[in-house]
Amino acid sequence: MNMEAVLPQECERARARASQALDCELSQLERAHLRSHLDGCESCAAFVAELREVTHELRAAPLPPPSLHSLRFSHPVQETHGRSE
Ligand SMILES: [Zn+2]
Repeated sequence: MNMEAVLPQECERARARASQALDCELSQLERAHLRSHLDGCESCAAFVAELREVTHELRAAPLPPPSLHSLRFSHPVQETHGRSE
């Protein structure tokens, strides 16, 4: 499969999926679509690799001691995290 001209829209979709995938919100089928896009799109593959690193750092970062209150909301909330870019 050689996709020389990848539609930017497809790239945006792939990147949105990538962030969802990191939150385990994608179905197997959606993940398969994402992977097939990444196979043919170097820039998205790089984007996802970077996204994974950032996400890993965020999750590995020291958090305030868990309280009963925060434990109830341990599932990551869908919102922007004030990225500097
Ligand atoms: Zn792409």
